[in-house]
Amino acid sequence: MTTEGTATDFITPDQAVESVHHKVIPWRSKMPNAAHNRLWIIALALLLFTTGCSRYAVEMIRDNKLRHQPQLTPNHTPRPQTWRNDEVTWSWLGHATVLINLQGSWIITDPVLFERIGPPEAFDNAFGIRRITKLPLAPDRLPAIDTVLISHAHYDHLDLPSLKFLASNNLLVVAPTNTTRLLDNVTSSVIELGWQTGEQRYLKQPDGVEITAFRVEHYGFFPLGKRKAPSGFNGYLIEKNGVRVVFLGDTSFQRHRNAQGFLLKKPLAIDWSKKLDGQRNDLCIIPIGDSYYRQNHISPAEAANIAGAIRCDNILPIHYNTFILTPPNKSVENPQAVLAGILQQAKEQYRLQCANDNGKSLPLAEIGATCILRRSRQSHSQQ
Ligand SMILES: [Zn+2]
Ligand SMILES: [Zn+2]
Repeated sequence: MTTEGTATDFITPDQAVESVHHKVIPWRSKMPNAAHNRLWIIALALLLFTTGCSRYAVEMIRDNKLRHQPQLTPNHTPRPQTWRNDEVTWSWLGHATVLINLQGSWIITDPVLFERIGPPEAFDNAFGIRRITKLPLAPDRLPAIDTVLISHAHYDHLDLPSLKFLASNNLLVVAPTNTTRLLDNVTSSVIELGWQTGEQRYLKQPDGVEITAFRVEHYGFFPLGKRKAPSGFNGYLIEKNGVRVVFLGDTSFQRHRNAQGFLLKKPLAIDWSKKLDGQRNDLCIIPIGDSYYRQNHISPAEAANIAGAIRCDNILPIHYNTFILTPPNKSVENPQAVLAGILQQAKEQYRLQCANDNGKSLPLAEIGATCILRRSRQSHSQQ
């Protein structure tokens, strides 16, 4: 035990908290430095440990840093150099990153290509959350990308090292409103699209890709000191020669937030069939993981519901099996299997199938699998 007034004093947690709450620190000058530092560490720890935010942080540190996670190697390796320019071919590279060859136009969504992710200010890639499944191809095996779509500025979707890696004179980055300022001059050409401002559509010449931003039910980044001008959050409809691809970066099922991304008092029901123009979509890229956070994400059942409402012929489920963003005890295990079960019950499991480039059909597009669009209206009528 310690003796009062010695250099090895320990302050009880109660004393520490009390001192912080009341800002009474007349004894500070009498405290030896080491004990004083310990006091502040204990006080801070106690304050942090009583908030949900810190419990989340502690769980994330435990799951990403302390618990040994063997890294999985994907079962498939895409070979984009073999993809034909008169077809629509895609491969999920993990999390929200999808490489698409849309009839000769190379598009990548929310590219995250390296080992770790994290907020640039706090961790950057050196200390951030580590992949649990490897990227299915080396980044330098990627083709020259024409268009990058950024759905919103959360660090699992906007990764500056990946954007810097892809940057080239011919690269166009499409990002939500108020996002260019975060890009740190990583590329020469950035277009901001925002459903909030009415600047929603962009026709890319000369390759004829048309990109339309629409509202998803999520939020963007609130920079310190600029809370009144947060960055936006988009879903995208990508069209070329009548082929339609929908990309939902992150979304909840109901509306929990207003147009700036601030939480509403009560969630509002959303009619997803009115989100787009009611036409069929050839491919819908839909997140299914991390649904514990219902204000920001959707469950596999809600993903199936949305896919029906916006008329998706093919569903590519994403946002799982790549980074641990939800502590495992709060996660839906194998959300892709849950989604497959729901679609099977509805006799719609064909929507998940991946028509592979080696002529086989996979029941689900796993990370790295190569899928080719078989226009569903034709293939359904042939079945
Ligand atoms: Zn997000
Ligand atoms: Zn996300």
